[in-house]
Amino acid sequence: MNNDRILAGIACTQVLAKLSDYFDGELAPEVSAQIEAHVRQCDNCARFGGAFTAIVAGLRKSIEAPSSSASAATARLRSRLGLRD
Ligand SMILES: [Zn+2]
Repeated sequence: MNNDRILAGIACTQVLAKLSDYFDGELAPEVSAQIEAHVRQCDNCARFGGAFTAIVAGLRKSIEAPSSSASAATARLRSRLGLRD
């Protein structure tokens, strides 16, 4: 990446390197928060991660939605994130 920047205490390259771990819920909560804060502040990652942030936003919405509308996929994501009813 040409414009590697450090925002929220984490560099673009580190954000991208950790994305899959982020989705697997394997990162410490503070690291996940750092990644989210970085993507919100970083044009580079916002552009690259537009889909990523949309997925995260959608995921949150799904998790917060009433369980009656939860799909099997949402249930799998909930369990991957370590969330339980
Ligand atoms: Zn970035």
